[in-house]
Amino acid sequence: MANRRNFLKKFVGMGGIVAAPMMARVAEASQKASVQNIRLSQSSNRTRLVFDLDRSIDHSLFRLHNPERVVVDIKNTQLLDSGLVEQMHNSLLTGLRTGVRNKTDLRIVLDLKNTVTPRSFLLRPEANAGYRLVLDLEDSNSTAVTYKKKQKAKLRDVIVAIDAGHGGKDPGASGHLGTREKDITLQIARKLHAIIKKYPGMKPVLIRNGDYYMGLRERVQKAREHKADLLISLHADAYRNTNARGSSVYALSVDGASSETARWLAEKENSSDLIGGVKLDNKDDMVAEVLLDLSLTGTIQSSLDVGDEVLGELKRIGRVHKRRVQQAGFAVLKSPDVPSILLETAFISNPREERKLRSPAHQHKTAKAILRGVSDYFSRKAPPGTWLSLNNKEHTTINGETLAGIAKQYDVTSMDLKMANRLTSDHLQVGQALRIPYTVA
Ligand SMILES: [Zn+2]
Repeated sequence: MANRRNFLKKFVGMGGIVAAPMMARVAEASQKASVQNIRLSQSSNRTRLVFDLDRSIDHSLFRLHNPERVVVDIKNTQLLDSGLVEQMHNSLLTGLRTGVRNKTDLRIVLDLKNTVTPRSFLLRPEANAGYRLVLDLEDSNSTAVTYKKKQKAKLRDVIVAIDAGHGGKDPGASGHLGTREKDITLQIARKLHAIIKKYPGMKPVLIRNGDYYMGLRERVQKAREHKADLLISLHADAYRNTNARGSSVYALSVDGASSETARWLAEKENSSDLIGGVKLDNKDDMVAEVLLDLSLTGTIQSSLDVGDEVLGELKRIGRVHKRRVQQAGFAVLKSPDVPSILLETAFISNPREERKLRSPAHQHKTAKAILRGVSDYFSRKAPPGTWLSLNNKEHTTINGETLAGIAKQYDVTSMDLKMANRLTSDHLQVGQALRIPYTVA
């Protein structure tokens, strides 16, 4: 859900560093500051210029293109020795020029070979050093290259296990028209599989792909064998009251069911293990132990989180039975390390919903809503080392940066950035956190 996303505006004002906009109306306007020295240094893809000053200053910075330049205006400042600028060049910086602006201000123009991402900050006096204006020029080309290389390193897809509930001798619930839950769940599962397959960075796995019986533990086992990052178990509710309607989303509870209905359902869904003759064995004791493990608490938290996203999307396409993610002791959710959710897509026992469940168009709509919820979740919390985790990358805007510059830096388009961050204009604020979207090359 969007409200959870962090669009907080943070300021970069740590330690002795003062971000430019917050700086300094400190200097007395009457007394002119002087640039005493200029130092140039270079690391792999960053050129740093340090201007030694005799007092605090107010400065601004902007870029000019064709040819590439960075312009720094320092208020009420002079350059004492014009000889200082002569040696200022390296592989990126082809020259440094100065001039006087508004009679009192110092303008410094840096001529550059490539587009750069400039960053500037003022350091306060400390130890043997006085005020220093630091200007970092990051070569946009080399950053893009590094980022691309990182992208190409071993990244994997997020694996989504889709479990069509019931099957074979276990038909699940049935509706008045004779619709069987096991058929509906398989149809939706296949539709979900097809659309996830097309989603970049995600790989679907069908736990059941035919009309045969599978034990619940076998399903969990299969999901784990495929190293699933998420398990979605699909079901279609039935209830004594045929008016009951809407979708519900469940995550595992530590202490079993969180409501009477949930307990009732848990019994019903779990009983399919007995139908297939596979009794719940002592593994339950092991599971009970694992339940106490903190890692499971984390898994449950993730399950609730993804469940929340999916429920939010289901709300958009229809009615929900329970407005919050429910927690129950469903066996199919009992993976200690795989976030798992169980969806009761609708009530097969409600004649109106039964007709909907049979409709391929509605099944497709449901599958799409599930995918939206899942992709929203992974856009925030993709496991490290996955393609989707690139989505979790955040960039904090610094002084002088533009949307186009940041886009170039990460090899995405300005439009990608605007879409990913729901920006309505190109204007950025210093300290603004931007989500860097995943794009397919
Ligand atoms: Zn079911």
